[in-house]
Amino acid sequence: MTQHFDLFVIGAGSGGVRAARIAASHGAKVAIAEEYRVGGTCVIRGCVPKKLLVYGAHFAEDLEDCARFGWEIGEKSFDWAKLRDNVAAEVDRLEGLYHQTLESNDVTIFEERARLKGGKEIALASGETVTADTILIAVGARPNMPDIEGIEHGITSNDVFHLPKLPKRVAIAGGGYIANEFAGIFHQFGSKVTVVNRSDQILRGYDESMRERLLHISLTKGIDFKFNSTFKKIEKQDEGSLLLTMDGCDDMEVDAVLFATGRVPNTDELGLDDAGVELGERGAIKVDEYSCTNVDHIFAVGDVTDRIQLTPIAIREGHAFADTRFGGMDRKVDHGCIPSAVFSHPPIASVGMTESEARQAFGNQVKTYTSDFRAMKNVLANRNERSLYKLVVHPLDDRVVGIHMIGPEAPEILQAAAIAVKAGLTKAQFDDTVALHPTMAEELVLMR
Ligand code: NDP
Repeated sequence: MTQHFDLFVIGAGSGGVRAARIAASHGAKVAIAEEYRVGGTCVIRGCVPKKLLVYGAHFAEDLEDCARFGWEIGEKSFDWAKLRDNVAAEVDRLEGLYHQTLESNDVTIFEERARLKGGKEIALASGETVTADTILIAVGARPNMPDIEGIEHGITSNDVFHLPKLPKRVAIAGGGYIANEFAGIFHQFGSKVTVVNRSDQILRGYDESMRERLLHISLTKGIDFKFNSTFKKIEKQDEGSLLLTMDGCDDMEVDAVLFATGRVPNTDELGLDDAGVELGERGAIKVDEYSCTNVDHIFAVGDVTDRIQLTPIAIREGHAFADTRFGGMDRKVDHGCIPSAVFSHPPIASVGMTESEARQAFGNQVKTYTSDFRAMKNVLANRNERSLYKLVVHPLDDRVVGIHMIGPEAPEILQAAAIAVKAGLTKAQFDDTVALHPTMAEELVLMR
């Protein structure tokens, strides 16, 4: 007998697991297929283990700074294998919790690859075929790797979590989220880092002042940047190092080269042709505002749709889909005004319009307010690293349409401030709020 489900989800990442759980809670008979590990990019090889490495990396500076606060520390050393293995154990624990969540919601888990066969049929790698009235594709994205000679010697962020040892010298291709986050991590652990980007800037899309400040701080720390440069060839030398032939900058010798040049939707070999599912630009699945593809019983959420490649968005899309399809509700996801952060050293956090976006939309009358300050802790520590906060304000109605921050704990602070921007609060209302002293966040209500 062919097994039949109300919903079959392909991909047990953030979006897929949320959709499966919520659909099941609405009474649907749900199955989910995952070929690798339950939890997906965020939990297994992305946000979560990366953030743990960021915490680990912070200790490098904290251990330096603590002397000014009276602490005498003996000889310091860093054990990469210990951190790596502890992070891996935490990932295992979280994966177990994701399994439990699915099981406790009576979701059937197929730990194998699934592929659409057309109509309502899904083929599993084991040879079994199952059917479902609704199919959700939530298979995520994978790192984009350039087609160059020797690319097999390159690594991606997926591999960093398994490195046997830290590279003494690492080149990082790209100037986006992953490049800047791992540049900070490797640098704090003692690697010599060179970031290489094809354009003349980092973090395209972020406010220019924040990008400039991060670049300045990173350069001061000793991270090297090469702009307008690309990789032509990677050759492995006899003693194990890599010789990089470059276009736009001098050739380099390194111990590892990490490619962080965007992520492409995982749409290959999924049977999308057989099912008649249309793809858009860069191979992403085209969906409407309810995450429905052109085939009316097939839906897609998360990075495979290439709307906004962020975990909380995939989760919201999965949740809205399940509520709408199985919970009798009408739920869409608002893709506007989404807070985001780069966990660089120091981190950047941002919500709403950048200054240049606001100027384009509302003209040059747009008002901006900035606070350029040294965090109290950095002052006592003699760390000459300045934070920068910026409010972008609508010229006519005084609404704060964007907040941009770089400095310690910026993402923690911005999450709360983003509520004000989403709610359309005005600069006057920010000013009305009494400062919480002494904090860094108080700068948000003290800019005049
Ligand atoms: P990003 O899109 O952030 O950055 C890609 C970088 O690679 C850019 O600097 C871009 O250059 C460059 N690039 C793009 N395509 C090519 C190419 N074909 N050849 C050479 N260079 C290229 O991607 P990441 O890989 O850093 O991260 C992928 C996604 O994962 C992000 O978009 C983000 O949504 C998500 N992510 C989110 C994190 C967070 O929320 N903190 C952390 C990590 C990832 P340029 O634009 O200058 O031309």
